[in-house]
Amino acid sequence: AKSHGRNSSRFFDPCMQAAAEHQAMLELAMREGLLARQFVLFCQPQFDTRGRLVGAEVLVRWYRSNGEILSPDEFIGLAESSGLIVPLGQYVLEEACHALARWQDDHSLRELELAVNVSVRQLRSANFTEKVADILLETGARASKLCLELTESVFAENVAETVERMDELCGHGVQFSLDDFGTGYSSLSYLKRFPLTALKIDRAFVHDVHVNPDAVPIVKAIIALARSLKLEIVAEGVEHEAQRNFLIDSGCNTLQGYLLGKPMPISEFEQMYSSGCVG
Ligand code: C2E
Ligand code: CA
Ligand code: CA
Ligand code: CA
Repeated sequence: AKSHGRNSSRFFDPCMQAAAEHQAMLELAMREGLLARQFVLFCQPQFDTRGRLVGAEVLVRWYRSNGEILSPDEFIGLAESSGLIVPLGQYVLEEACHALARWQDDHSLRELELAVNVSVRQLRSANFTEKVADILLETGARASKLCLELTESVFAENVAETVERMDELCGHGVQFSLDDFGTGYSSLSYLKRFPLTALKIDRAFVHDVHVNPDAVPIVKAIIALARSLKLEIVAEGVEHEAQRNFLIDSGCNTLQGYLLGKPMPISEFEQMYSSGCVG
């Protein structure tokens, strides 16, 4: 067998080549998976401080033909870099709005808000506003119940353009929340320029708030900031009673996490929470 010198990777790295081939195959599989409707929407419930169900977040899963189920962390990055996030995101939005429209006929589900993750690339893609408006029209979903979750990466560049696009969508009645708050590069001075209705405290901050006193001031500061900007505060990743109590006492409005409900297929969500007449 050939021995690999210390610097052989400078010329040819079989690992890197294998990784590139894997990516290319995954991208092809994703293209096919989109056509074959292998992407499945899961829903995770969100509750107010009194424990009332107020909404849900859509989280996509990929049911591959080989039987594997991939979580978004395993394919959203590739979807972004390949551009496939645009048709994938469109599919997710369509399915989400179909769900919202179904829920309108159910006593227990009709007032729920549905949060959908939207990546920057999708937000900036051609005619995004028109596409969203079309989906709302075609499905009959109410815009006011659709909340688009953006991460701080939208703050990184083209701020004026981004704000303009968000304003257009707000004009249609859609809401926006800022996801993963505190983990990215948001400039606080920009925060008030964006038409947001809510901030989501990232689960990294929620994670040890009940055991690590150092985590407390950060969460309190985020909540104070959100309040001064008149934004609703959603905490994600709530796993323990003690976290929930702390977050409620500190002024969070909405809670999401395994303690309260795991992500589940939309059909299961509907069975679990409807008053019985979804259809
Ligand atoms: P995210 O938007 O921050 O979503 C929350 C993630 O936390 C989800 O992971 C959810 O399953 C997980 N989670 C919920 N409750 C708990 C908890 O109590 N503890 C812990 N440890 N985790 C919890 P998931 O479903 O794997 O999604 C990962 C990320 O993929 C999402 O993070 C979101 O950024 C992205 N994503 C998911 N669906 C979509 C989509 O349709 N479009 C786009 N662009 N991104 C998506
Ligand atoms: Ca999210
Ligand atoms: Ca997050
Ligand atoms: Ca809201």
